[in-house]
Amino acid sequence: MLDIAVIGCGPAGLSAAINARSRGKEVKVFGAKLCSPALHKAHRIDNYLGFPGIRGEELRQRFLDHARAQGIVPSTEAITAVYPMGDYFELQLRQETVQARTLIITTGVGIARPLPGEVEFIGRGVSYCATCDGNFYKGKRVAVVADSPEGEEEVNLLAQLADRVWYLPLYQGEYRVADSVEILEDKPAELAGSTRLERLVLKSGRELAVDGCFFHKEQLPATQIVPGLALEDKHIKVDRDMATNIPGLFAAGDVTGRPYQLAKAVGEGQVAALSAARYLDARR
Ligand SMILES: Cc1cc2nc3c(=O)[nH]c(=O)nc-3n(C[C@H](O)[C@H](O)[C@H](O)COP(=O)(O)OP(=O)(O)OC[C@H]3O[C@@H](n4cnc5c(N)ncnc54)[C@H](O)[C@@H]3O)c2cc1C
Repeated sequence: MLDIAVIGCGPAGLSAAINARSRGKEVKVFGAKLCSPALHKAHRIDNYLGFPGIRGEELRQRFLDHARAQGIVPSTEAITAVYPMGDYFELQLRQETVQARTLIITTGVGIARPLPGEVEFIGRGVSYCATCDGNFYKGKRVAVVADSPEGEEEVNLLAQLADRVWYLPLYQGEYRVADSVEILEDKPAELAGSTRLERLVLKSGRELAVDGCFFHKEQLPATQIVPGLALEDKHIKVDRDMATNIPGLFAAGDVTGRPYQLAKAVGEGQVAALSAARYLDARR
């Protein structure tokens, strides 16, 4: 059981992890392949104190070096779901679950918007993890939408379980999927149904009658990871301690709102870590 799990390995997440470590907490950062695509893209940064004119990529490397020097090596596997369990959290990775007493969400905002109907049908036909939910679709019809080749693993697993599988790759390349999978050169437009998901409507106008739709996304909006998180103006609502409406769950960085800026992200990451440490100490 971790003291603190941090989701996201950008400036806010790394700042949170370093400060959590300095408070003697057992912390782990769950990230993605590139820790902070936003920072990587920033050509020149002039407003981060002490580093005028620095390239985003150089600052990104410095942040990672600093974290590694404290023994913090972000995992490259994204979190697909979080289950609040009362006095701890269960975090779902693709193949395993991890438990943590507190959680800090720092997933940024560089995220594709969910499709119409996507959030509505989470748990009622929409899933983000074939390993976790695939068994519910034995003998059924499913579609898989993926923005990277890692989605092929999900499709091939589902091909062994479901009766019919359509694959909508949103990337170019060779698709290594089972022969039974039907690959569609189309894009998803909308998810529709009544109490459960019934149809995936495509951009071309074609409709697939599906029982399930699996999404493989490099980044998931925080509200899709943790159902029940209170929002304000499409961002996670936090107080001055970076606490959310869920006890033990904190958030920091771009995900909590504007301005989308480094200094804010780093500062909020620190506040969130200190608040999480205080929360833990009060329960010892
Ligand atoms: C082109 C550009 C130029 C910029 N220039 C400046 C500037 O000059 N000055 C300035 O102050 N700011 C600038 N910014 C903004 C700055 O980069 C952001 O404010 C900052 O990176 C926010 O940090 P963050 O940690 O909140 O989020 P991010 O840096 O976006 O990091 C979020 C991380 O979370 C990961 N993640 C998301 N979902 C999951 C999941 N489910 N599981 C695990 N990991 C996940 C992502 O992969 C990412 O690594 C610029 C941004 C851009 C795009």
